[in-house]
Amino acid sequence: MIKFGPSGADTRFYELGNKATLEMPKYLVDMNLDCFEYSFGRGVNMQSETALLIAEAFKETGIEISVHAPYYINFANPDLDKIHATYNYLLSSLSALKDLGGRRCVVHPGSPLKEERSMAAALMLDNVRSLVPILHENGYADMLICIETMGKINQMGTLSEIIDICNIDKMFIPCVDFGHINARGQGILKGKDDYKRIIDTMLNSLDEWKVKNMHVHFSKIEYGKSGELRHLTFDDIIYGPSFEPLAEVIIDYNLTPYIICESAGTQSLDALDMKNIFSKMLNI
Ligand SMILES: [Zn+2]
Repeated sequence: MIKFGPSGADTRFYELGNKATLEMPKYLVDMNLDCFEYSFGRGVNMQSETALLIAEAFKETGIEISVHAPYYINFANPDLDKIHATYNYLLSSLSALKDLGGRRCVVHPGSPLKEERSMAAALMLDNVRSLVPILHENGYADMLICIETMGKINQMGTLSEIIDICNIDKMFIPCVDFGHINARGQGILKGKDDYKRIIDTMLNSLDEWKVKNMHVHFSKIEYGKSGELRHLTFDDIIYGPSFEPLAEVIIDYNLTPYIICESAGTQSLDALDMKNIFSKMLNI
């Protein structure tokens, strides 16, 4: 089933007097949303006890939880010590995710640093290949590690780089951030055909299941020459992209993605906006 939800607690959550993640499931049920992404962007700092309590609260309401791994993960780092640190950031994210009762962990592929891009891409794939047995040994073979398309030109994470990583093992599925793709391409996502092209590219090179159940980040994002500048809200009418054409493609292709909104401060309201657009098109 298709799911919609916010990344992190938004302004409205706090305005209503909520304070802790334990209160998030009820907040989302009241809003008729389906899922939630907890960010470990700045580090994994949750006690196992706390995570288990949060897991229980989410389980009671049927709201699914996912996590975002630390932003400083970089599979393209040429320094072996740094690669081991990267593996450990991911392993601790997965350990917390398991406690939280979730299955999806979003990861940024990294940055080429001073390396030439094709060299960095090859290094990135090698490092992800070496990671696979480590993930198996640690009992994470059933997890879904969602590799994100990135918004800045100097970051790793074009659609084709993401597809290459996803083809390494069944654990890796795409996290298609349409705002990032639009920002990186200076506004390339306009109509239905632009979204279709992305889905078709993935269907041509990935397991169908991974495309049908892809992770999605959707927000409007301001961009400049080097790509992403900042996340906006759905009030933006300049930068886009807009969700309606994607909703049409999701229906046409019968996809069931997990859609997370990363708007700046209005993420649960904008997630609901997407859910309503989608339901209206389906007439439900
Ligand atoms: Zn991200």
